[in-house]
Amino acid sequence: MKHIYITRPIPSLASSMLRDAGFEVTQNTASKIPSPRNLIKALKGKKYDGVLSLLTEKIDASIFDAAPEAKIISNYAVGFNNIDVEEAKKRGVAVTNTPVTSEPVAEFTLALILALATRIVEGDRFMKKGKYAGWDPNLLNGTDLKGKVLALVGSGRIGFSVAERAYKALGMKIEYYDPIPNPKLEAECGAVRHENVDDLLKVGDYVSIHVPLMKETEHLIDGRRLSLMKPNAFLINTSRGPVVDEKALEKALKERVIRGAAIDVYEFEPKVSRGLRKLENVILTPHIASARESARLEMAKVAAQNIIDFFEGKKPVGLVG
Ligand code: NAD
Repeated sequence: MKHIYITRPIPSLASSMLRDAGFEVTQNTASKIPSPRNLIKALKGKKYDGVLSLLTEKIDASIFDAAPEAKIISNYAVGFNNIDVEEAKKRGVAVTNTPVTSEPVAEFTLALILALATRIVEGDRFMKKGKYAGWDPNLLNGTDLKGKVLALVGSGRIGFSVAERAYKALGMKIEYYDPIPNPKLEAECGAVRHENVDDLLKVGDYVSIHVPLMKETEHLIDGRRLSLMKPNAFLINTSRGPVVDEKALEKALKERVIRGAAIDVYEFEPKVSRGLRKLENVILTPHIASARESARLEMAKVAAQNIIDFFEGKKPVGLVG
């Protein structure tokens, strides 16, 4: 019987699907993120055939050494930058993800765009501080969305879903940069592709990032690129923290190089710099873009199915390496 280790509590659907398919399952029941040391301790000598991991676990050579029998790492996330895919490849270990959260992440991104434009978060803080002294035509005036340029860095599953909503529901103009052109995005949303990120950043009123974290995208948005943005533009990041140089962003927001930002992911997660937390012109959320019960269930289902398919000799839907 194949034995699977699940590194943290996730919906029980995953373990029940695996058990129903004839797997033995051991699940860590502590909700705290396991330290690398504790994860190694949990795996060592147990002869697990596969590991179902979360994005909070760094899966590198030390983990492959601790679980040498494991043939698959099934990541409970779309992003898989927490896994050393090259090392997995060398050792013949398959890597899978759960690319099933585009809609919630797109809706969340839209919520951030709307929150920046309408200043809802500032309004909430203002009211709770008891500052409201009556209607004032100059109070917390927002910015328009219709006809404004939504600049998408990355036009894959999530980028496309964001564009569709922003174009159809809000009447925004879509421009994008992706090394791979997206003809569907161009046909359905009238999107204009730029040849490079720099040119895109110069035209965006709202710049939203939807790239995977890889060597090539680390600090893709740095101080130089932030200074290319319009002074009235907003930056939205729901991709992965290290795609943006967080220190440079803090400086750009402080010095009003850009107007504001909304950030769901952080360079040194779960740490967020005190400087960023003190700023009024940034909305900060705790990596919750896909946080929906339905999405979590779907992710559990796909993470389990990836393992089942892999051992049945079928190609898992989430196979990435
Ligand atoms: P995807 O693979 O469908 O799309 C990524 C796109 O980025 C691709 O089209 C790719 O060509 C493009 N790309 C690669 N390098 C680029 C570059 N240098 N410049 C511009 N574009 C580039 O992925 P997706 O499903 O759209 O997800 C994107 C990312 O969102 C994931 O990798 C994940 O890290 C993140 N994510 C975050 C949350 C959250 O909770 N905040 C949830 C889901 C996904």
